[in-house]
Amino acid sequence: MNEKERIDFLRQEINKHNHAYYVLDTPIISDFDFDKLLYELIELEKKHPDLHDINSPTQRVGGAVLDHFQTVLHKFPMLSLDNSYSINDLKDFDTRIKKIIDIEFDYVCELKYDGVSISLTYENGKLILATTRGDGVQGDNVTENIKTIKSIPLELKGDYPDIFEIRGEVFISKSKFKTFKEKTAQQRIDKGLEPFANARNLASGSLKLLNTKEVSERPLDCFLYSLLGDKLPSKNHFYNLMKAKEWGFKVPSYIEKCKSINDVSEFVKKWEDKRSALPFEIDGIVVKINDIDLQEEIGYKAKSPRWAIAYKFQAEKAITKLNNVTYQVGRTGAITPVATLEPVSLAGTIVKRASLHNSDQIEKLGVFVGATVVIEKGGDIIPKVVSVQDEEKNLFSQQIDYISNCPSCDRKLVRNEGDAKHYCLNYLYCFPQIKARFSHFVSRKAMNIDGLGSETIELLIKNDLINNFDDLYYLKRDKLLLLGKNVEKSTVNLLNAIEKSKTVPFERVLFALGIRYVGETVAKVLANHFSSIDDIISCDDLTQVDEIGDKIAKSVKDYFCESRNIKLINNLKNIGLNFNSKNKDLKSKKLDGMKIVISGVFNLSRSELKNIIEQHSGKYVSSISKNTTFILAGENMGPSKKEKANSLNVKLMSEKEFLELLS
Ligand SMILES: [Zn+2]
Repeated sequence: MNEKERIDFLRQEINKHNHAYYVLDTPIISDFDFDKLLYELIELEKKHPDLHDINSPTQRVGGAVLDHFQTVLHKFPMLSLDNSYSINDLKDFDTRIKKIIDIEFDYVCELKYDGVSISLTYENGKLILATTRGDGVQGDNVTENIKTIKSIPLELKGDYPDIFEIRGEVFISKSKFKTFKEKTAQQRIDKGLEPFANARNLASGSLKLLNTKEVSERPLDCFLYSLLGDKLPSKNHFYNLMKAKEWGFKVPSYIEKCKSINDVSEFVKKWEDKRSALPFEIDGIVVKINDIDLQEEIGYKAKSPRWAIAYKFQAEKAITKLNNVTYQVGRTGAITPVATLEPVSLAGTIVKRASLHNSDQIEKLGVFVGATVVIEKGGDIIPKVVSVQDEEKNLFSQQIDYISNCPSCDRKLVRNEGDAKHYCLNYLYCFPQIKARFSHFVSRKAMNIDGLGSETIELLIKNDLINNFDDLYYLKRDKLLLLGKNVEKSTVNLLNAIEKSKTVPFERVLFALGIRYVGETVAKVLANHFSSIDDIISCDDLTQVDEIGDKIAKSVKDYFCESRNIKLINNLKNIGLNFNSKNKDLKSKKLDGMKIVISGVFNLSRSELKNIIEQHSGKYVSSISKNTTFILAGENMGPSKKEKANSLNVKLMSEKEFLELLS
């Protein structure tokens, strides 16, 4: 077998294993052996660029960074379905159909997957186009993103038509979503974002990403459920799907032919009961006429077919009594009202509390103490109160007077324009805020001071031993022993841990300060960009820094405008905490005065390249202007950037040339 034949063989082999693993869920070889095959193919393809194939399984790992998505006109419009919410609605649907056709026919029932619709076009067995629904007439070309989904075949096998479209739903399974959410939660919080709340939003957000590498890291999956084209195998929707399965598509097995609308209702009831046991989210059932000729005969309305209907399940809800409202004070002083409920079972757990978010929400819901409320749980977010059942208040009901003062320190709350929440601004003396600040300061990813649990912190604050972070470093052994809480050994350990924290790098010290919106990632970005905290304090416009937006920039500026914070930092500096970036040692002045833009994909990571630029006295900038010295251009540089560079006469430099220049 020569190398060309070997490449063909490997491609087929890898496609086969992807199908076995991602579609059939029955892997044939170990991950290790699979990786070996893939690695061999990658190496061979590098050697033979002439044999490049956009549908090679090596293309699934992503890498292209797009500027925007191309808009594509759908060959067959992507219609939506009419919704129904009761068995009676379904019976009405059946009656309407039978007025149009008077022969025997079958329905096909399928689950309604809670994901994002997608349309795939295959020509000669190869995936050539993938588009989103868009407005139904035209959608986005997301082919590159779709290729990263391993359950979608890039090449088909068997007796497929020359050209056809297949439609389905991109989704994320419950377990994969949970893992991904946990893995990314801290990162999101650091960026000032909420952790991902539900699988569908994550799936749809993923398809909108322009960096395919990032898409390839999302746990996307895809079910296919409908074929379109002139040369389909038959005029029978169900049969066509079974054929599509043979060609390599992931066609769900949760599909049934039904002889009558009564059979359809049985199917609906069955899955309404069993839906929570499914490994993925569904939000209803889809009912279609099986015969394609009959479908055409029954026809279409403006935006939906007459021959199909969706039955929507109710969201998971429970009804209970609201007993009380309490208020939580967060680290930044934000107040969150929380409803205390009569315990009730919801989606498999006992719920005792539900969020009321803020005062506007309470007003909007018209909720009161003693009210019978409907609570809802979407995905696995904490439950929320969604509505009030009572027509009117009764003798026992009590209006909720939103607090005007902090539940802990009694300071008057403020609410700034644009803020949904009220805040307690008693930064220095409001107990829950101080406590949460210290917990954050000593946490593993910040100063990593072991031995300071929540109880000890509480004790130290209440005994006036700590109030500001610098107080921690003046703690004395005898004082700690007086508290009686710590035995000798743990006191020594604690003091050692506090001492050791002086070696924590700048980026983590910055994170530990607890500046609003400056999480782990943002702290890292700032510490990488600036050589010291003084540089950050004196910077006029932090938004110049890549990844730093207005909200973060303002928050950082506000923080350093407070003289107490400057005083704190000076104290911590004197104590010996790290407020300088380390790896800023200058290697040369070769790039002095140069402004450099980075665009495309490189061997080195972007942050490595940025570091190199700075180590040689250059300045990294995020957008191209006439002041740009050159663009460090990697593979797949976006066409619009290229155009802009041309028009402004800014020259491009490859990664290789760049590194040679500096060596
Ligand atoms: Zn307070």
